[in-house]
Amino acid sequence: MTMKNFSLETDADGIATITWDMPGRSMNVIDMSVMNELETIVGKLASDAAIKGAVITSAKDAFCAGADLTMLEALLKQYHQSVGKDETAANQALFDQSRRLSQIFRALETCGKPVVAAINGTALGGGLEICLACHHRVAADSETVKLGLPEVKVGLLPGAGGTQRVARMMQPADALQFLLKGSDLRVSQAKAMGLVDEVVPAKKLVEAAKQWIRDGGKPVAPWDVDGFRHPAKVFSPAGMMTFMPANALYRKETWDNYPGARGILSCVYEGALVPFDTALTIEQRYFASVLKSPQAAAMIRSLFVSMQALGKGARRPADVKPNRIRKVGVIGAGFMGAGIAYVTARAGIDVVLIDQTQEAADRGKAHSEKLLTDGLRKGRIRQADKDATLARITATTDYNQLAGCQLVVEAVFEDRNVKVDVIAKVEAVLGRSAIFASNTSTLPITSLAKASARPKSFIGIHFFSPVDRMMLVEIILGKRTGEKALAMALDYVRAIRKTPIVVNDVRGFYANRCVGNYLLEAHLMVMEGIPPAMIENGARMAGMPVGPLALTDEVAVDLAWKILQATKKDLGEKAVDPRQEKLLEEMVVRRGRLGRKADKGFYEYPDIGRKYLWPDLAQIAPEQKSADEVSIDEVKNRLLATMALEAARCIEEKVVTDVREADVGSILGFGFAPWSGGTLSYIDMMGAAAFVEMCKGLARKHGKRFRPNRLLGEMARNAETFYGRFPPGGGAAAQSA
Ligand code: NAD
Repeated sequence: MTMKNFSLETDADGIATITWDMPGRSMNVIDMSVMNELETIVGKLASDAAIKGAVITSAKDAFCAGADLTMLEALLKQYHQSVGKDETAANQALFDQSRRLSQIFRALETCGKPVVAAINGTALGGGLEICLACHHRVAADSETVKLGLPEVKVGLLPGAGGTQRVARMMQPADALQFLLKGSDLRVSQAKAMGLVDEVVPAKKLVEAAKQWIRDGGKPVAPWDVDGFRHPAKVFSPAGMMTFMPANALYRKETWDNYPGARGILSCVYEGALVPFDTALTIEQRYFASVLKSPQAAAMIRSLFVSMQALGKGARRPADVKPNRIRKVGVIGAGFMGAGIAYVTARAGIDVVLIDQTQEAADRGKAHSEKLLTDGLRKGRIRQADKDATLARITATTDYNQLAGCQLVVEAVFEDRNVKVDVIAKVEAVLGRSAIFASNTSTLPITSLAKASARPKSFIGIHFFSPVDRMMLVEIILGKRTGEKALAMALDYVRAIRKTPIVVNDVRGFYANRCVGNYLLEAHLMVMEGIPPAMIENGARMAGMPVGPLALTDEVAVDLAWKILQATKKDLGEKAVDPRQEKLLEEMVVRRGRLGRKADKGFYEYPDIGRKYLWPDLAQIAPEQKSADEVSIDEVKNRLLATMALEAARCIEEKVVTDVREADVGSILGFGFAPWSGGTLSYIDMMGAAAFVEMCKGLARKHGKRFRPNRLLGEMARNAETFYGRFPPGGGAAAQSA
């Protein structure tokens, strides 16, 4: 048999080593061709008497990254094209196709020959599910190997037996936690949980796998042995102790926004009541129905397909040669600069970290030391990684050390004069082809570039705090920014493994404009007398990870106050809402409630115990509303709509020119309800007409800030979607908004 993805070699003992090595790809994934070949391999294992057993491993660094989600996207597309003609047939076709992988894995598990997974590298999603369908699992003893079922993070559930095998391999509470969180395990954790049977040095992996077969390993899964008892005894005190709280926890964590997570709970519960093959069918039915949900489609698109495309440089000018970045300068070793130095050094890039005094520069470097020490303590990195990262950072006050830097990122005080001074000092020592980037949040890049002798090589690279955790970076184009600067910025963001969006140069850029609206709306709600707990809970119910009042505390209430004052100074009285000004003034000026950093803001932060809403907050409002007078749905709608509307304005104003960037940027930058796929997908999911209607209603009741823009009006009349009107790629929005 000729195969392109797998090779099969049988040794003198009749043990076949099946090596997975997809041509032209850095990682193995499961696509149609892999499924076809796996089917052939399983057939051969079952029928070829010369084969006594098999070991499955990979020739790549990773074992397998999971199913190719673009394949699922294609399946869905087919479904939507045919469902109008014959709904039953379309549903049946989707069910049959989406269960195929599960059936292949089950055939492998029941092929009659012992099969061992030799897990040489990271195995995720379908890549882990095939391992679980093997009769034994041996993993390489390496810190870099990760095992996980992250399907829930893209709105799905593990659909190739994962929910059923995991639930039979461990206690139900552990299984639910693992499946619902979707996070990765290190090999040692996977071994402790029973997902892996043996951990051996990488060099001995295949040999150890073969030895298990030679030692008489049985080709039967535990659940296929007579008398197997499912660990989750549903109708028992233990079952009651597990599933009832699990439902409550699921609601608390997700507010029922994620059909994939709900499907996992159902699969585990219902699957525990029936024999294994029936349980697999239950899982497949849930998988197909979750796959059809608009939430899954939107999440797959934004959180997988678009994010990957942007990460790979979808917006990169094609004709500029890729930069291999070796040395970067960071000016300003404060809160942001220290974080930028850390993520840069972690990516293997040398960093020159400059501040006004040696002490300040050293303090910036000490931030890396702290993060690395934490990482070491938590077992995330090794001592050698820590040493190497720190060795890459030179903390200094000497600008001459910048010689040889390909890129310099400035993160000094948000003060034009300070920045102008720094630009001159840096440019005096920079090489001709080097790029200068500013991390400014509020100063227009175009105007800062006027201080530069080389405005074509001047760009904005806007990080979010905390830099080490926030995955989004906005790249800001000034009027005269050239393609080489854009390419360098994108190559840099890729090197530090963050996701870039390219944004045009307007006040607030993209993310802060939307977040600003989120905070404003919540502040106005406080002043309307809406109980603060309803505002925070409404936000969480709508799918926001952090309530707007908690978020104001995190970014600092006095910063919100300062931004409001600066906006008033620059754009006039009318640009700010007096009710918000009154609230912030009361908080900052009268009460000194500056936020998290001061241990008091919208919340109280006691030394012991959890934060809680400041009990006197409601008194700042001129009048109080009781909870019965407030519609929680309206609170949710106001909070999401105000951000989505701002995103739609950003598209019309060409601040963002690619719909994928608006969506991905909204989830990574400010946590916009991930279930929706992002700000624009939220509108598309609801339909432009319904969204416009909702906004008009909100505008009548709450003011003109909710008035839909011209673009949305047009889209509503023509029944258009953002993804239909602005097909992703090539800055289509810029041309046709
Ligand atoms: P910060 O005050 O913590 O740090 C600024 C640092 O720059 C200080 O260490 C200071 O000593 C140093 N510095 C000042 N003048 C200098 C000079 N002439 N030469 C060298 N170093 C100098 O401020 P920050 O919060 O890190 O903000 C820095 C920049 O990042 C600002 O432009 C800000 O708008 C932007 N930014 C901040 C955030 C945020 O959340 N804080 C987010 C995105 C962007």
